[in-house]
Amino acid sequence: MAALNRSDTSGPRVLMRRIRELMIEPLEAQARLDQIVKLIAKHMETEVCSLYVLRADGVLELYATEGLNPGSVHLAQLRLGEGLVGTIAATARSLNLSEARNHPAFTYLPETGEEVYNTFLGVPVLRAGRTLGVLVVQNKAAGRIYPEEESEALETVAMVIAEMIAAGGLEGSSRPGVTLDLTRPVSYNGTPLSDGIGIGRVILHEPRVVVSSLFNEDPETEVSRLGQALTILRASIEDMLARREVADEGEHRAVLETYRKFAQDRGWVRRLEEAVRNGLTAEAAVEKVQSDMRARMMHLSDPYIRERLHDFDDLANRLLRQLIGQEGIGQDVEDAVVVARNMGAAELLDYHRGQICGLVLEEGAATSHVVIVARALGIPVAGQAKGVVSMAENGDAIIVDGESGDVHLRPAQEVRDLFADKLRFRAERKERYRSLRDVPSLSRDNVAISLQMNAGLLVDLPQLVESGAEGIGLFRTELQFMVASTMPRARDQERLYTAVLDAAGEKPVTFRTLDVGGDKILPYLGHTVEENPALGYRAMRLALDRPGLLRTQLRALLKAAAGRETRIMFPMITDLSEVRQAKDLIQRELERLSRFGYETPSRLKIGAMIEVPALLYQLDPLMEMLDFVSIGSNDLFQFFFAVDRGNANVANRYDDLSVPFLKALRDVVRAGERHNVPVALCGEMAGRPLAAMALIGLGFRRISMAPPSIGPIKAMLVALDVGALSEELTALLDSGEGAGSVGPFLRDFATRHAIPY
Ligand code: PEP
Ligand code: MG
Repeated sequence: MAALNRSDTSGPRVLMRRIRELMIEPLEAQARLDQIVKLIAKHMETEVCSLYVLRADGVLELYATEGLNPGSVHLAQLRLGEGLVGTIAATARSLNLSEARNHPAFTYLPETGEEVYNTFLGVPVLRAGRTLGVLVVQNKAAGRIYPEEESEALETVAMVIAEMIAAGGLEGSSRPGVTLDLTRPVSYNGTPLSDGIGIGRVILHEPRVVVSSLFNEDPETEVSRLGQALTILRASIEDMLARREVADEGEHRAVLETYRKFAQDRGWVRRLEEAVRNGLTAEAAVEKVQSDMRARMMHLSDPYIRERLHDFDDLANRLLRQLIGQEGIGQDVEDAVVVARNMGAAELLDYHRGQICGLVLEEGAATSHVVIVARALGIPVAGQAKGVVSMAENGDAIIVDGESGDVHLRPAQEVRDLFADKLRFRAERKERYRSLRDVPSLSRDNVAISLQMNAGLLVDLPQLVESGAEGIGLFRTELQFMVASTMPRARDQERLYTAVLDAAGEKPVTFRTLDVGGDKILPYLGHTVEENPALGYRAMRLALDRPGLLRTQLRALLKAAAGRETRIMFPMITDLSEVRQAKDLIQRELERLSRFGYETPSRLKIGAMIEVPALLYQLDPLMEMLDFVSIGSNDLFQFFFAVDRGNANVANRYDDLSVPFLKALRDVVRAGERHNVPVALCGEMAGRPLAAMALIGLGFRRISMAPPSIGPIKAMLVALDVGALSEELTALLDSGEGAGSVGPFLRDFATRHAIPY
């Protein structure tokens, strides 16, 4: 029955050549499809060839046919999962049947007149793992099935058709208003990782190499091109495996070893070669085989298999880049929303800063480096948007809402309007805050509150002026270490600290020494897996055991502050002996600098973070040892309530506005007053207006927060009567009325006094 089967592999090649000729003819999209189905039917010697295209509403519409009733084109329709065609689309698998009507899914469309055909071969039309339609051939003769090579050949043709559908122009040939699945709006309910709203166009971080040359001239040359690319790919994997930093066992090594296994996989290589022999270029073959695999595996929910699929995707991308070369990142697009599976912080910094208005990740967590950097740059981020990479095309309209975590790909006009309003509202609000920037940070009853900002990277520094912060209350020095792939040298550390002090001018800066370990892992530091990392080998525990690391940092901090004032603070202090040891180290470094003739800081203040509840019972001796303290409420809260701050199931179970926690904070303020030691707070709660109001009511006069929070907090402050609040809050805390949250009281107070929160 089929010509393709009779002649070795030249059959599909002739068909491909004809299709290629057709592709360059100046035809309307519909006319081209009509010709293509005719060509396929002729070359495969089938009586029927039909193409069904998937619409946005999940309906497969007959778009072109040779052999079925021509009057049924655009009228014959099946739902996803309905009939043989719907089953192929839903499962992304081909069906090859000798007797179509015997298949349990068979339904027939009377308008097409297909009841007389028995043999049936249908293949999904796939692009980047997405089903765009179904291509079918049918014959009357029963009792035989299409040979395997023929099914392969039809899949190859389907790939060319997928590119045609993606190229557009087909929409108009159906009824007005019909949209194809490729342009369907899709929404994801991801995780909010960095606040803000981004409205723009998709930039795929790893652009799918859109294979522009599909047809090969000579299969042998192409097979050898493929072979060479595979050899280079394998060699590069071996090379990476041999490098020193992956020589040890570890996750990185495990991933590379999986790559190595895949790159040697005979089945994979055989499928690639087969596609080339059917007429595709090496790159088109990689794309086709990958697309088939992705479509089949995407339906599986096994996380292990899905992870392996990602590995295979990465490998195929590497191979494509090997064959075509890296495509530009599309740097010139304005309002770019970068869409990626995941990425490193440095890769984000490679983009032109002003052009990025959002980031969407399939993975990503609040503490991942790229998210920390994005937050510093003020880029809205949504994470855990599973599947977005394969659904998005470069240039698609997209909205990312970093407040809710929602992502809208190709949004409908109403959604766009809604977000445009939201964006306008936020811009107005920002403008209002900006006008508060130079207003003194005084409450309505003239209590001065120092509003400072948290920072950690050079990119944060412009915020010092823009936000109107009075200083940097927490400089997280570990961020420099986290975004680097190797340990920052002493010189690099000193350079950063100098730049920070230069930018701050007269404003005070509190540098916190390295707070690594726990969830802040430095890959180059050597790291052992711990059962309870938050309670593990971290911060000062690690620093005091590795004095070389801490001494280098202290030296860099002291040298950067030569002749000027600086403040150094130690994280995660648990025991007074740790303060003593840390202070000794500073003293030794100061003496060393003097000995070598370096200028030392004109004034040095030493402080500690209160993050571990044990310190609450040694406040008096602690205060005597220090110039200031700052409460790390994120960690203090986690240890106080025994609740993992990064675990979404429990993180919000307890309230930081509850009576016991506020009483603990008040005890610290009172101890500070007794010893005349300033007490600040630099955890996230300082940036929430209602919580900041409570802190001020408890007696805090210095709080430090993410720069975008300074505006809303100042708006709250200027409307606040601190005296009145303190009185009511103290009475409430001391009344012994349960141990619940004071949230409702604070909300009521704010409403009564018209305080924005
Ligand atoms: C804290 O724990 O509150 C804090 C400010 O430190 P980090 O969030 O960096 O642990
Ligand atoms: Mg902390």
